Amino acid sequence: MDERIISPKRQAEEIALDSSLRPRQLSEYIGQERIKENLSICIAAARGRGEPLDHVLLYGPPGLGKTTLAHVVANEMEVNIKVTSGPAIGRPGDLAAILTNLRQGDVLFIDEIHRLGHAVEEVLYPAMEDFALDIIIGKGPSARSIRLRVPPFTIIGATTRIALLSSPLRDRFGIVYRLDFYDLKAMKAIVRRSARILGIPIDSDGTATIARRARGTPRVANRLLKRVRDYAQVRADGKITEPVAQQALGLLEVDILGLDKIDRKILRAIIEKFDGGPVGLETIAAALSEEADNIMDVCEPYLQQLGFLERTPRGRVATPRAYEHLGLPYTQGPEQPILL
Ligand code: ADP
Repeated sequence: MDERIISPKRQAEEIALDSSLRPRQLSEYIGQERIKENLSICIAAARGRGEPLDHVLLYGPPGLGKTTLAHVVANEMEVNIKVTSGPAIGRPGDLAAILTNLRQGDVLFIDEIHRLGHAVEEVLYPAMEDFALDIIIGKGPSARSIRLRVPPFTIIGATTRIALLSSPLRDRFGIVYRLDFYDLKAMKAIVRRSARILGIPIDSDGTATIARRARGTPRVANRLLKRVRDYAQVRADGKITEPVAQQALGLLEVDILGLDKIDRKILRAIIEKFDGGPVGLETIAAALSEEADNIMDVCEPYLQQLGFLERTPRGRVATPRAYEHLGLPYTQGPEQPILL
């Protein structure tokens, strides 16, 4: 189980927190301006025609608001949303059961859509294209296929690994958006909004401190806010100010850029054990006894965004900026000629 304070993945006890803080309308959804503008046009057009919205694929690192956006779309379209995930739809029959229960225009949200099995995908194609289910009845020579109609609906798929999606599946989405890390202005707005909803006293410098260390990720911002609130209550007068936020986050070992102990360990390993790289992901994972998947989902996107890590065909490379952040001398670069 991944219990790191900076993990953008949802932790078990956060389901209630997520739903209380989740924006419900597009106007409440902070940041991602380009996506919001495009989506609002698609939504208005679909509503104008009285049709369901085209299928939408959302991709990007965890915690950036894909699930939230799917709920927002359903609200804006004034339809129901059914939530499921790739691994939860084990057999084609599971998918058929879900689809035949949808009503006209409903949204079916499939999280981790890259984990759908091949047989399930095959059933999904005609469902997405023609709103039809091809069901095989019987076995052997007497088996025959019948076509069941399902009401027109919208699939919203979410994935952290677009590269793992088969191309026939990807091609069936009319609308594809990549969610990016949020900028500082948006992060501050998210911390401010969550503090207001949770009734947490916080000033603008305290807001900025949490926003800066939350890795451009709303889920991390909400989690840090809660932990800093605890600290403020116990060690200060309950109000989150800059020094209170700094002390609390220092205690949690989250540094000024939002890196935690494991991020720093990864960079250090690349620099000290593998001469700055290139080094393969599996090798780094083995050297640190961490899971490669976790490094890839949680650490790398943010380290790359900071310009601390580069992915090359030969492996991961630490950049001069990473050395600087860790206070290590940069030893790479053009080889010095040896004068004999
Ligand atoms: P994902 O599905 O990409 O992993 P979620 O949609 O579950 O991420 O988002 C995690 C939490 O972050 C949500 O519960 C919500 O409170 C918050 N959040 C996400 N996006 C936004 C946003 N644009 N504005 C405000 N809060 C957001």
